[in-house]
Amino acid sequence: MNVSLLIGDSQPAASNGKVFQRLNPLSGEVATEAPAATLEDADAAVAAAAAAFPAWSALGPNARRALLLKAADTLDTMREDFVRTMINEIATTEVWASFNVKLAAGMLREAASLTTQVGGEVIPSDKPGCIAMSVRQAAGVSLGIAPWNAPIILGVRAVAMPVACGNTAVLKASELCPGTHRLIGEVFSKAGFPAGVVNVITNAPEDAPAIVECLVAHPAVKRINFTGSTRVGRIIGELAARHLKPALLELGGKAPLIVLADADLDAAVAAVAFGAFINQGQVCMSTERVIVDETVADRFVEKLSAKATSLPAGDPRSGPVVIGSLIDEGPARRVIELIEDAVSKGAKRVAGGDRSGTIVPASVVDRVTKDMRIYSEESFGPVVSVIRASGVEEAIRLANDTEYGLSAAVFSRDVARALSVAKRIESGICHINGPTVHDEAQMPFGGVKGSGYGRFGGQAGIAEFTDLRWITIETEPQHYPF
Ligand code: NAD
Repeated sequence: MNVSLLIGDSQPAASNGKVFQRLNPLSGEVATEAPAATLEDADAAVAAAAAAFPAWSALGPNARRALLLKAADTLDTMREDFVRTMINEIATTEVWASFNVKLAAGMLREAASLTTQVGGEVIPSDKPGCIAMSVRQAAGVSLGIAPWNAPIILGVRAVAMPVACGNTAVLKASELCPGTHRLIGEVFSKAGFPAGVVNVITNAPEDAPAIVECLVAHPAVKRINFTGSTRVGRIIGELAARHLKPALLELGGKAPLIVLADADLDAAVAAVAFGAFINQGQVCMSTERVIVDETVADRFVEKLSAKATSLPAGDPRSGPVVIGSLIDEGPARRVIELIEDAVSKGAKRVAGGDRSGTIVPASVVDRVTKDMRIYSEESFGPVVSVIRASGVEEAIRLANDTEYGLSAAVFSRDVARALSVAKRIESGICHINGPTVHDEAQMPFGGVKGSGYGRFGGQAGIAEFTDLRWITIETEPQHYPF
């Protein structure tokens, strides 16, 4: 497919006519040809958003709500387009693509429900007759940068709450799924949003640093949200700090799932298989490390290996599979390298096999230790490490022995004990007796440590995308000392 930019009410090519292509990772055929935006295009997108801001931020909350609800319905009706485009660009499974549509529509509905919650309070003042208020107010243009791995969910997330709060938005698409991200712009246009409220920029990979710097530096941009790797998140955080702009950073993960000695092992195996292998492990919340009490480890590994081996892998275009393609051949090669490095240092591969191009079968590596790369590096692929722990204290220590802190899980039949463990895990999110992969639009989603800072979802999202003002009204004559 060929796509255009979305800038205000126009759908232009890049100002210099340059394009770039995203190839389907399985066929090598062109999935999408998109404009390689120039710095002038980036400026024009921000200018369009800035021009739309006064009217959009002044619109009543129920008018914004109605449009967001319409956008959710529009997204639902465009389901086929989204699923086809997403599978074509990232070669994932239909299950993951359909889940993307469902949760993204849910995010728009949740954002719609929050438009009337952008409020404030009256604060008692010590000055006689002074009415003092805190007031939440839209900030201006919000820049959203989203990745490819859950492209509909994360593209919509990057703009839904900002826009619900009365901001206008520029979405910088991922180079790996420009068609899917551009469709999000179409959702807002079709739903009847005023021109300029949501703008979409696509760029060639080599232009990303300059385009992002230009967008972050633009004086009209008042908020930045970035979902992507910790490496790039650090660059964005530094850029934002240089311009003194608040940034919400949703970065990488290395989620631990702790299996305590009294856990229901079948339930834990099911959660690990889902959390480690959905979307081929290309999820920030993916279960990357299972930390299992050594007294139950052999039984657990046997069950997990059987489960992983039973999961069909293959080209999702030729029929339903659980494990589809990775995003490109480089990442598939890297997953195999991580496994081979671990095996060469004494780990045991108990499920999985060779890759076939971009397809890597569901893999389990047992007896992973700290000297192996896979112990600390985010694999972002269909491989899960098993690390054996001697007791609860060591399990907690191992869970926290990572630069990341996004999602986590604890399995135990003793829920009070599991809760006390959960409280000691350094992560933004922790689930007891559930998988590490779990997202709902109304939850405060976000990480700590190298997984970033800030929260999408619910009231936390309102705090991110508004300025909290202090406004007073004096109702009595004022007295001054001179
Ligand atoms: P990425 O960091 O490689 O790319 C994300 C964006 O950064 C792209 O739009 C790209 O144009 C831009 N970029 C690249 N180099 C840049 C530079 N030098 N300066 C400025 N911008 C630059 O991430 P990705 O591969 O698209 O996504 C995968 C990563 O995202 C994984 O680490 C995953 O864990 C993380 N992720 C996090 C969450 C979350 O909510 N925490 C969700 C999904 C994915």
